[in-house]
Amino acid sequence: AQEIHLLRYPDGIPSPDDFSVVDVPVLKPLDGEVLVENIWMSVDPYMRGRMTPRKSYIPPFSLNAPLEGHAVGRVIASRDSRFVEGDLVTSMTGWRSHALLERDYLHPIPDAPDIPEQVFLGPLGMPGLTAWVGLDKIAECQPGETVFVSAAAGAVGSMVCQLAKAKNCRVIGSTGNPEKAKWLRDVIGVDAVINYREADNLSDALGEAAPEGIDVYFENVGGAHLEAALDHINLHARIAVCGMISVYNNRANASGPANLFRLTAQRARMEGFIVSDHLAAYPEFVREGIDLVRAGALRWEETVFEGLENAPNAFIGLFDGKNTGKMLVKLAA
Ligand code: NDP
Repeated sequence: AQEIHLLRYPDGIPSPDDFSVVDVPVLKPLDGEVLVENIWMSVDPYMRGRMTPRKSYIPPFSLNAPLEGHAVGRVIASRDSRFVEGDLVTSMTGWRSHALLERDYLHPIPDAPDIPEQVFLGPLGMPGLTAWVGLDKIAECQPGETVFVSAAAGAVGSMVCQLAKAKNCRVIGSTGNPEKAKWLRDVIGVDAVINYREADNLSDALGEAAPEGIDVYFENVGGAHLEAALDHINLHARIAVCGMISVYNNRANASGPANLFRLTAQRARMEGFIVSDHLAAYPEFVREGIDLVRAGALRWEETVFEGLENAPNAFIGLFDGKNTGKMLVKLAA
């Protein structure tokens, strides 16, 4: 078996040398344990926060130990009567080929054999739930509103765009890549796309795309995106602060948007949220999501890196926009 360890906390943008591939024996399950071979693992921007030795809403990763994250695997041996060989399960034991687990750490994937299992790491997994909670519960998005979504072609963003379109909202998405912009327009159905790398001035570009202002900003990026959004918020707008990927690799605290006072002037609300506080909503979300997939009403894209040894490159690629939709690592067939 193999595991990926973190050797040191990255300084700035993570580099492949911060990680190592370690060979370990495959252990046999003892009574009450289940042996899982991972098939897919997820790499996610939040993991960068755990690669920094400072307190946050989850503790930092330990050095010289296997990293953690969502994974889908297959049971290959079981000493727990509730799991049998061949069962597909999700767990938090990504970044390794095999994991020995007790049942509390294993979750059967939802019973929908017509949906590929890795979808439960993306559109119908944690990123999908994040989109659903952020748009509905935090931003309280209403039909007909104008919604601006940053990192719109990513795992969370592409779900937010589709959920907002399903509410008959006008949706403006931003991305840094022309192919992703085309996918957002042609497949995801957003009304206007801003390529933030090509725009001379992000705020002007948003003003052109949303001449009547924005009611909801789904914040995934931070920095100049937040400043642009604040410039165009309407009265009583809501900003769901999901993430700020543009600052995750910053070495020192960058200076914040100069126009935060616009929140006051516009009586707008900006609220942070963490998806793990909303896990109780997962069954409701996934039921709705499975129905949408079966109705052909939900689109997704995956970017797949092959092999556990490529997991660090997949993770680093998130900060360089290498993914459209969910970034995944395929470990086994
Ligand atoms: P994505 O699939 O969106 O991947 C990251 C994307 O961000 C890249 O593909 C890239 O797209 C864009 N990006 C990277 N660096 C920058 C930058 N410097 N400026 C602008 N865009 C950048 O990731 P996720 O969907 O998994 O996550 C999206 C956001 O949601 C992140 O901020 C993440 O931390 C947050 N999140 C928060 C959760 C919560 O509970 N609050 C839970 C899950 C995610 P492009 O090519 O378009 O630049």
